Amino acid sequence: MSTDTTPLSSTSRTTLRRHRERGKTDRADLYAVLDAGLMCHLGVVADGAPLVLPTAYGRDGDTLYVHGSSANGAFGAADGQQVCVSVTHLDGFVCARSVFTHSVNYRSAVVFGTASLVIDDDERRHALEVITDHLIPGRWAAARQPTKKEMAATAVLSLPLTEASVKIRAGMPKDEPADYDLDVWAGVLPVAVTFGEPEPDPLLRSGIELPPHIRDRH
Ligand SMILES: Cc1cc2nc3c(=O)[nH]c(=O)nc-3n(C[C@H](O)[C@H](O)[C@H](O)COP(=O)(O)OP(=O)(O)OC[C@H]3O[C@@H](n4cnc5c(N)ncnc54)[C@H](O)[C@@H]3O)c2cc1C
Repeated sequence: MSTDTTPLSSTSRTTLRRHRERGKTDRADLYAVLDAGLMCHLGVVADGAPLVLPTAYGRDGDTLYVHGSSANGAFGAADGQQVCVSVTHLDGFVCARSVFTHSVNYRSAVVFGTASLVIDDDERRHALEVITDHLIPGRWAAARQPTKKEMAATAVLSLPLTEASVKIRAGMPKDEPADYDLDVWAGVLPVAVTFGEPEPDPLLRSGIELPPHIRDRH
């Protein structure tokens, strides 16, 4: 795993136009947003039209991996093409005294680059392990490994983390000075993704205990 430590460079398309103070140029912020996310949105132009698909992903150093069915046209369309991947955490609704000033607290990343279909079998397998363990660390080793047929049915795309932007908003509403006297509740309603109680498959063979990598995922 190679990890770039240089700051995120601003290109014409990664330059924030509004609320630039919310932008982060430290790669650690990019990695933190990506590593804390569960799903991304992959944007690709397929057959001349934009297509944005929600998908799982994983990061290995400065490479982002996404996977899908080999039959998924978007993955074929993305190979060698410019794509855009975004990851968003919604952290709270920011309720201001005026409707106009309402906002959201969030951490988000937008990554641009040329996607490549991963051809090398070892890298494909590694990428699938990275994606699986990104969602549930330890799951890859715990489950049956993919067969050749299953590997053939799976497409993997890689995207270098070279051109990206990060934007983070936190904190309270910023109302107009005169509005602070209004009789309106203001503050933040936090939003969070949480894991629920594991639900065993009714067909689970008896005697199989809940493994720590599921029990302790939070
Ligand atoms: C859940 C959620 C809801 C939002 N709702 C709204 C809304 O309703 N209205 C609104 O104006 N804004 C909203 N935003 C903020 C929105 O994502 C943009 O930040 C905003 O539109 C400002 O973009 P801009 O004009 O600076 O840049 P744009 O000109 O839109 O984009 C220029 C470049 O800046 C970067 N960039 C812009 N926004 C982000 C971002 N959020 N994260 C990382 N990189 C970014 C990208 O690289 C992009 O190519 C929301 C954000 C989140 C997470």
